[in-house]
Amino acid sequence: MLLNLFKFKGGVKPPTNKTQSVGLPIAQAPLPSKLVVPLHQSIGGTPRPVVQAGDQVLKGQLIGEADGWISAAVHAPTSGTVVEVAMHTQAHPSGLDALCVVIAPDGKDEWIARETVDYRSLTPEEVRERLQQAGVVGLGGAVFPTHGKLTPAKTVPMDELVINGAECEPFITCDDLLMRERAEEVVRGIGIFRDLLRPKKVLIGIEDNKPEAAAAMKAAVDALGEPFLVVQVPTLYPAGGAKQLIRVLTGKEVPASKRSTDLGVQCFNVATAYTAWRAIAHGEPVVSRLVTLTGNVAEPRNYEVLIGTPMDELLKLAQPHPDTDGIVMGGPMMGFLVPQPSVPVVKATNCLIAHSERLFPPKAPEMPCIRCGSCAQACPHELQPFEMYWFARAKNFGKTQEYKIFDCIECGCCSFVCPSRIPLVQYFRFAKSEIWAREREKNAADQAKARFEFKQLRDEREKAEKAEKLAKAAAAQAAKKAAEAAAAAPATDGAAPVAATPAVDVEKDAKKAAIEAAMARAKAQREAAQPKNTEALTPEQQRVAAEIEARRVAAHLIDPEPAAPPAGEKAE
Ligand code: SF4
Ligand code: SF4
Repeated sequence: MLLNLFKFKGGVKPPTNKTQSVGLPIAQAPLPSKLVVPLHQSIGGTPRPVVQAGDQVLKGQLIGEADGWISAAVHAPTSGTVVEVAMHTQAHPSGLDALCVVIAPDGKDEWIARETVDYRSLTPEEVRERLQQAGVVGLGGAVFPTHGKLTPAKTVPMDELVINGAECEPFITCDDLLMRERAEEVVRGIGIFRDLLRPKKVLIGIEDNKPEAAAAMKAAVDALGEPFLVVQVPTLYPAGGAKQLIRVLTGKEVPASKRSTDLGVQCFNVATAYTAWRAIAHGEPVVSRLVTLTGNVAEPRNYEVLIGTPMDELLKLAQPHPDTDGIVMGGPMMGFLVPQPSVPVVKATNCLIAHSERLFPPKAPEMPCIRCGSCAQACPHELQPFEMYWFARAKNFGKTQEYKIFDCIECGCCSFVCPSRIPLVQYFRFAKSEIWAREREKNAADQAKARFEFKQLRDEREKAEKAEKLAKAAAAQAAKKAAEAAAAAPATDGAAPVAATPAVDVEKDAKKAAIEAAMARAKAQREAAQPKNTEALTPEQQRVAAEIEARRVAAHLIDPEPAAPPAGEKAE
């Protein structure tokens, strides 16, 4: 069946440099002198160590227990003695240390008991659980725990399962050799994913510069009678990016803000499918992976390498030339110089390139941006690298975010085409790390503020509780004193005790009573002075009395009802 292919935006065609390392079959790397196994080798929680110095371990034995659902277990890559559980420098551009289990191999390479099981006899939950316990993670570089991607979405039907065998980055050939030599096990692993996700179609994308791998995969698919479609896609970097391969094979554009499952697509690398099959069908956890040794070496080749092998020890197998001055992990587009040559191989290590100035001549000095726009044309994510560069350089990180710096996959296409030789990706990595650092600082400050506010609230509450207690105690004391005073007052027989009247009140009441008594006496005298019955007088006497009264009123102009004359005086 033929499939319509689509184009993704941008992309570049750097020299592939792949032929050097595909001439020889995969070889087994010998046991190294020691194995330094980092516990954190995947996205998600860091596994907890379950061994300590002095413990004897077997190959495949659990040494780091998964911490949470998005986390994957870690195992001893060979049998031997645990020398220490300690911090060691990591294969990361930061050069930071991380907790590692260091094992001294005993040379026997003795496996734990391995259980062979038909995955069809297991429930989907059991398969996912086994994958997590076996430490299966995305080996295309993302190292996302595989079991976490194997639950079908409830709302969006799964249309396509895309298997990534594109391997677009120059120099790297480990997936190519894996498909050439172990195609059947890769296809069986894809069968597990298909049975868990139940997609309508399974599409295996391989760049058209790997015809042997495509032929081997097609043969394995036919031999196993699977309805999978092996599709050769045009060689164009970065066709191996998950979103780019999905676009080429399905025509679906996955927006930066969404996951491919939102559009009914899930994507796995071919090496992930292989390790999933080994884990389920053979009971082998992930203790090794294929690594391409290439670059400034005499014998480039792919090796099956134990996780934890020191890189400098491993690179010796490929006979690096004397002018080798460093090791690049990954390809020349997305890889980085490791901080120390002795850092260990991890699950994400697909390639080691011996670095030399002959192979990678130092770039001429960076020139000012001429705003030619070539970087924007090359960007597969339709970003504006020159704008992001400008703001990253000015440390205006807010603006870099406005220009969607976190959508940048650091593919290096923009740096590759820039005529001013500006190391754009380095600026973007710098800006991202600064933003993350500030975010961490802000979170720490927020947490400190929350702790301070909580302490303040607690202090205030304690203060209020204390004040309430004191008030209650004072009230109780006052009540007690009052009760004592009442008990001490003299009580009359049969009468309730009367509260003592203050002296001031007694004095006031006495004064008031005296005034009222004086007023009553005056009124009585006045009434006594008034004629009581004028009708008893003779008419002559009544006339004289009226004249006297009229003269009195006229002479004194007084109230017709005057105050009583002082005692002894005679009213007129
Ligand atoms: S390619 Fe380089 S010079 Fe051209 S716009 Fe981009 S950053 Fe500037
Ligand atoms: S590195 Fe980022 S900005 Fe540059 S081309 Fe790739 S995705 Fe675009």
